[in-house]
Amino acid sequence: MRASRDAAALIALGALPAFGDARELRFQSNPFRFGVASGDPVPDGVVLWTRLDGQVLERAGALRLHVPVQWEVSEDERFRRIVRKGSQLAIPELGHSVHAEVGGLRPGRHHWYRFTAGGEVSATGRTRTAPAVNAAIDRFRFAFVSCQSYENGYFTAYRRVAEEDLDLVVHLGDYIYETATMGPERAVRLQEAGGELFTLDQYRARYAHYKTDQDLQAAHALFPFVVTSDDHEVKNDYAGATELSGVSPEQFLLRRAAAYQAYYEFMPLRRVAMPAGPNMRLFRRLHFGNLADVHVLDTRQYRTGLSCGGGRKPQCEEALGRTQEMMGPEQEKWLMDGMRASGARWNLLANQVLIAQLVQMANDTPTFSMDNWDGHVQARARLMKFLAEARPANPIVMTGDIHSNWVADLKVDFNNPSSAVVGTELVGTSISTGGDGDDSTRPQVLALNPHIKFFNNRRGYVRCTLTPSLLTSDYRTLPYVSRPDAPVETRATFVVEDGKPGATEN
Ligand code: FE
Ligand code: CA
Repeated sequence: MRASRDAAALIALGALPAFGDARELRFQSNPFRFGVASGDPVPDGVVLWTRLDGQVLERAGALRLHVPVQWEVSEDERFRRIVRKGSQLAIPELGHSVHAEVGGLRPGRHHWYRFTAGGEVSATGRTRTAPAVNAAIDRFRFAFVSCQSYENGYFTAYRRVAEEDLDLVVHLGDYIYETATMGPERAVRLQEAGGELFTLDQYRARYAHYKTDQDLQAAHALFPFVVTSDDHEVKNDYAGATELSGVSPEQFLLRRAAAYQAYYEFMPLRRVAMPAGPNMRLFRRLHFGNLADVHVLDTRQYRTGLSCGGGRKPQCEEALGRTQEMMGPEQEKWLMDGMRASGARWNLLANQVLIAQLVQMANDTPTFSMDNWDGHVQARARLMKFLAEARPANPIVMTGDIHSNWVADLKVDFNNPSSAVVGTELVGTSISTGGDGDDSTRPQVLALNPHIKFFNNRRGYVRCTLTPSLLTSDYRTLPYVSRPDAPVETRATFVVEDGKPGATEN
């Protein structure tokens, strides 16, 4: 109420035009508190993101106004060669977020961008357009990241990502955690507004707090991101329209709608991803010359319910049944059609949870995680069979979720050591979730799962370099996240040669 009264007072004073117009608006402080970001690069453009700080808007009486935000894109860092500019209304319905889809840029090069609103200027961001369609490029560099619990640790891994020379960052989900605060005894640093999230305003507040992290902002300001979400952007282990707390699907979909909207508002996503109620189109494909196609998956929204009550279980009938889906029929067909048609040398899949089978013993019984593809065995079998028969070029799956580093061969039959290798799964550790970790190597788990070649329990990210002949993946790890400023090291390097499925340690 106060905001609209302030606005009315300003209008009366002639400081603001009426009818929710804010063209003459002047902010008293910088509203770009959440930084800037860019995403989903194509050869001639990229989406530019920012969001105006509600507190600054409120002080200016603009919380309920449509606020024009100008953006400009330059081919040099000092904005001497501005090649595109435009304006977009930041509206209260979308939390005054801005998603500017810029076209007309030159391919395969850096661009710099910034926003202005109410007389204030944002930080300068740098981004990079994708190479020209089918261009022969000899190198593509990217990192993939996942799982950033604010309370579990510092986002130093992002500081180290920002020091890398990359064309792209891929985020595989768990950008926020919806859970209640751990409390001052256990949290490395406390989140604001600490309860579990249910409503749009609650999800927005959590993102707003995470987005104040300077390391996170630094990485976003330097590289375009391709993002997809996992479960904690909504609710731990949710599956389609269901989750385990006992609410009905109709009730849960209200929460999912709120969570998806907040996700969209805070991510550098194109308008096609803007949610309509509880539905959000996240699966999509990006092309990087003739070198890489990136198939971005959404394995949460279209899943069938958790198999066998969830958790880690001995293999059970439901998990093996034909009705259990991970991608849903439409996305599964889209993925297979796209991989079959791909002319790229490497097919990268941005995937949420572990695809490779992972057997772990509990009380002398083999158990499997029902939240992973192990809980949806037939869906995995179809994908593995597709890789074996259609033989799309060099399938490499990037996975997050389990807060640890793994490298696995993908096989049609994981129980048969002589079953052919059809692809490689690179599982990247968390940015911070799980805390410092340790140097355990889990030899018993590796012995039980001969298709798995590496395990590591530190935080960090995976840095990859693609050339026409080789994928090099460097497992970059930090010794701690409970204090800031940790150094980074390469704990292991695995390579995949063109035409030869399976990773080998360098
Ligand atoms: Fe996670
Ligand atoms: Ca997860």
